[in-house]
Amino acid sequence: MLNKSKGKNKQSRKEEEENLNIILRLLLLIWVPGHVGIQGNELADKLARKGSERRFIGPEPCIALAPCVVNMALSTYAKKKSAAEWDKLEGLRHSKKFLGATGACFPNKINRLSRRQARYAIAAITGHFGTGSMLLKMGIIDDPTCRACNEDVESMEHLLCKCDGLARKRLDLLGVAYPQPEDYCASNLKASIKLLEWIFEAI
Ligand SMILES: [Zn+2]
Repeated sequence: MLNKSKGKNKQSRKEEEENLNIILRLLLLIWVPGHVGIQGNELADKLARKGSERRFIGPEPCIALAPCVVNMALSTYAKKKSAAEWDKLEGLRHSKKFLGATGACFPNKINRLSRRQARYAIAAITGHFGTGSMLLKMGIIDDPTCRACNEDVESMEHLLCKCDGLARKRLDLLGVAYPQPEDYCASNLKASIKLLEWIFEAI
């Protein structure tokens, strides 16, 4: 195989290319009809038959299943089990609104974010950030009124979905002025994070 790593000198790369050319001259890939007396195919069939005739070792009764069928069944089971457990959890009112019924989409997406982006994404999903309502709960402020509109309590849901003072910014970044909570996780998480960055730097 060609090694493209840095530091390989030109001479050794040239040798590798020459070796590869030799191998490629020896190989010929062509389509052949199956099961018509071609030695390699006949041998493969013979081995497959031999394998299928071997006695099964393990608990019976049994049925032969392709790995993809097993993987699909396990994946479906895990998703259903996860959704049921998620549903049983008490509290988490904010997170359940933003993550939807299963809560499954978020972990896959957050793995691909930078540390800073992940911090904002988690803030959006959990509601744990320096919003007015959170600061009031912590006893840091007395008035949780929204700093962007001066009309309502400054909760995370208010900022992300309902605040009139941020409607224009949401429209610019998300393409919708008044999104639903589940929109943040379901589609464009990165655009949502940009909005959060802007909000928390502005307020
Ligand atoms: Zn507001």
